[in-house]
Amino acid sequence: MSNYGFTTTILHSDRRFGAEHGAIHKPLHTSSQYAFDDSRELAAVFQGKAGFSYARQGTPTTAALEQKITQMERGIGTVSFATGMAALAAVFMTLLRKGDHLISSKYIFGNTNSLFGTLTALGVDITLVDPTDMEAVKTAWRPETRMVFTESIANPGTQVADLKGMGEWCLEKGLVYVLDNTLATPYLRPGIDFHASLVMNSLSKYIGGHANALGGAITNTGLYDWSAYEAIAEPYRKGDPRTWALTQIKKKGLRDMGGTLSSDAAHRISAGAETLALRMEKACANALALAKYLESHPKVASVSYPGLASHPQHAMAKAYFQGRFGALMGIELDPSVDVFAFLNSLKVLILATHLGDTRTLVLPVAHTIYYEMGPETRALMGIADNLLRVSIGIEDEADLIGDFAQALDAN
Ligand SMILES: *Cc1c(COP(=O)(O)O)cnc(C)c1O
Repeated sequence: MSNYGFTTTILHSDRRFGAEHGAIHKPLHTSSQYAFDDSRELAAVFQGKAGFSYARQGTPTTAALEQKITQMERGIGTVSFATGMAALAAVFMTLLRKGDHLISSKYIFGNTNSLFGTLTALGVDITLVDPTDMEAVKTAWRPETRMVFTESIANPGTQVADLKGMGEWCLEKGLVYVLDNTLATPYLRPGIDFHASLVMNSLSKYIGGHANALGGAITNTGLYDWSAYEAIAEPYRKGDPRTWALTQIKKKGLRDMGGTLSSDAAHRISAGAETLALRMEKACANALALAKYLESHPKVASVSYPGLASHPQHAMAKAYFQGRFGALMGIELDPSVDVFAFLNSLKVLILATHLGDTRTLVLPVAHTIYYEMGPETRALMGIADNLLRVSIGIEDEADLIGDFAQALDAN
């Protein structure tokens, strides 16, 4: 672990861990297999020694990226995946068994919610609760409860879960605590500070940051002792019990399920990761300025952003994320504004799904990501037809405010 700051550590990571020929970036290794001069060494790598054999379990290039994510999260190891969803599927499928109970958030990312349907069909029981309310979390506990899973900031509602309360409670109960840190990122706060056992990051979002590569990662914080966790298979109960789950996630989730990150994507994500801190500072500052401007605009019904004093978890978010509040917001336009006409008037904002790009992206959620669930469920969830999800980028602040101003004026 480096004693340097966040950005210095990431910038110098490849050199520090040894890039070939003094290269500044870990080279892009495209080989799908790795040969050995010594047959005993080959056997040792198959038996668990660190090394490379077949690229489905990683390459030197993906390992260099994993090293960076481990340092960002201040953990003890990381396994990378082709996407964030592959990473999440690997955690749930390899650590939960039929009859196990999982407590999660009712504000969870839509695709994760859909993955929960698959898990339920396989016999895992799932209870979705309000993650901002520790009493609701505790009430969901059963003797079969094995794991608590939540997101640092919810998308698109921007609810901030009681991350520390959950961590402390999981510690007390001996539960595995898995945190999806995609929206806050380890720059705003690493999961280990909330006592998370495992931290998932979608590398497709802020960490890669340029919408040019997909990836996901699971980081082991080293805080959980897996020796009493029944779902760890015998071959992985070797060495330091703090590492057992990540070994199982790598063997079963990566080797057996095959959702492997390519070296090419890892290389692009690594370059993006160098500027995570700079981009987050700028995007968070832009988001706060825009949220304040829009909150008092007569054509805006409401703005959900943890940086606003009106946000129900504002004080907690301020303490958790050290004065930055992320770069995602929900904006509900006044019912008199035609949402489609408004969107078509925008000149700088891009009409696209995705989040965490350098560019600001906007989506009418009821008509897109929440369309499938129908109007009744949307009404129950408080999703208005005029609700926009905006992922703020790093453009110049005046251009973002100016674009909203002109599009609201025109409609
Ligand atoms: C995007 C996202 C994911 C999935 O990541 P992909 O890399 O797109 O598969 C998971 N969780 C959250 C909170 C996300 O925003």
